[in-house]
This record gives sequence, C-alpha cells and structure tokens, in this order.
Amino acid sequence: MIRSKIIVIALIAVLAGTNVSAAAQGTQVRTRATLWQLHGQTADQGMSYVLATAAGTLLVVDGGWHEDASHLLSFLQTRGNHVTAWFVTHPHRDHIGALNEILAMKAEGRCSIMIDAVYASLPSQSWVTERNDSNALAGLTEFLQRAPAAGIRVIPLAANDTLSIDGLSIDVLLAHDTNRVSPASVNDSCLVFRITDGEKSILFLGDIQESGGAALLDLPQARLRADVVQVAHHGNPRAACTETLYGRINACYYLWPTPVAWFKDDKNSINEFRQRLTDRGAHRHFTWADSELIELGGGVPAATSTGESR
Ligand SMILES: [Zn+2]
Repeated sequence: MIRSKIIVIALIAVLAGTNVSAAAQGTQVRTRATLWQLHGQTADQGMSYVLATAAGTLLVVDGGWHEDASHLLSFLQTRGNHVTAWFVTHPHRDHIGALNEILAMKAEGRCSIMIDAVYASLPSQSWVTERNDSNALAGLTEFLQRAPAAGIRVIPLAANDTLSIDGLSIDVLLAHDTNRVSPASVNDSCLVFRITDGEKSILFLGDIQESGGAALLDLPQARLRADVVQVAHHGNPRAACTETLYGRINACYYLWPTPVAWFKDDKNSINEFRQRLTDRGAHRHFTWADSELIELGGGVPAATSTGESR
C-alpha cells in the first residue's frame, strides 16, 4: 500500500518577529527551503529525503528501496519533475534502490524525470567485495550499469568539498576514503554532509557507525553543528555512531528514517536511545509516524553551541 503522507519541515526561520502561529493562521510565511522525509513503502528501514529551495530547485538524498521508486517519482512529478542534485550516501539497496529503479525506467523511457547530476562518493566494487557486503555490491553494480545507460552525470565528492546550489551551501564532512584508517564498513564510508542556507542547517549522517562517527568527532564543532540531524543508521543503537557525536551536533530536531514498528516493538531498545537524545536536548523527533506537514519556521529555538556538555 502506498502511504502518501509525508513530513514537511521548513528549515528556515521565517521573517523576524513572526512565529509558528502565523503559519497556523494561514499568514503568508516565507520559508527558504523545505525538507520532506518520505515514508518507506516497505516494512524495512530505508532512507528518502527531498529538499526544495524557495525557488523550487529540488534535491534528493538517497530515495529508499526499489519499491519506494513509484512513490518518490509521483512526489517529484508534482513538484516539477526535475532534480538538480541527487545525493547518494552509500550503495546499500535501502538507500540507492529507488534511484536504480528510476534510472532503469528512465533508460527504458518509462519515466520523464530530469536528473541533472548524481553526487556520491562510491567505493570500488573490489573494495566492497573485500568486505563481503553483497547488499552494497548489488546496489553499486546496478548503479554503475544504469547511470550511464540513463545518461546521468555522476559527480564524485570527497571530504571537504563544498557545493553551492540555489542559495544552499553543502559541506562534505565525510566521504569514502581508502586512506582513512578505519572505514571499517560500507556504512562507515558514507557520504556525510551538512546543508545550510546561512540561517539553519541540516546534517545527513547516512548509516555511519562507530568509526565514521569517530572521524566526524575530529572535525571542528562549527562544521558539525546543525539544527536538524538525520539519525544515523536508521536509529539502530546497536550499530550506530557514538552518541557523543549528537552532543557535538547539538541539534533541536531529529529525523528518523526508521520503520514505525521498531518503536512499537522497541527493537534494540530504540526507545531508550530516543529518550537519551531527548535528554541531550532534542526538542522533537520526526518519525514515519508523523504524517502531516510540520512547519518549524519561527518556532525553531535558537540552539546554543554547548559542545559535549549536553
Ligand atoms: Zn547502509
């Protein structure tokens, strides 16, 4: 069953002096960028985000499984059918599957979506093979076949690269790097990046685990700080980055690309983990159970930079 409801998060504080009630009253509130956390269409974990600038430029992060492709495509079609930048955090199929499916549809003329470029930091097939990661190998191999067949430009990213897209600045904090001592797994070699419009910021952690989290802790806190953070590795606390990292990020809002059932069943004590993040200062958690448009506009509390103290 296709679940069409989505979460919408406006990243940006609205005009000075306005507040959340203005949005509730229907006042014309200008936001600069909007983020949607799309719900997975399968029972499994998956990750799919769409970001739109005020001018309507669309960015996608991952996209979820093959089975998520039609939901994502319809979503994009109603918003211009043109993706300026599609970011892939890593080639596990719950992240790259929908893109692979869309590329196949595009190559076969079954969809008309425009994708200007895919941005990624992909490991080689041999590197993935050495790690016995058949999921990532399948996702990567399919992508390497389908991107050229669909005529898609793939732009490699490395740590410390910066991009500017329609008023958004993108800072690449972590990327696949064979020189890094401990990118132990495909997850730990995720593309990690922070997007800001100058006022508010969102940090995508992908599926990083311990060694990826440790590498991020080496960065200056100014590059890590974000108002909104995507919880790493679907919030699985058994295979997640160090929680110290969340203290450094110091976000107010947490996005969970996580099946609702995980919270219901308290998989791997995920509810305790969520509570610990609340104790660290999370003002709100957004999960796939959240199904309505949520404006964080003028109500976004100004998060102070308090380092690891919270
Ligand atoms: Zn993964």
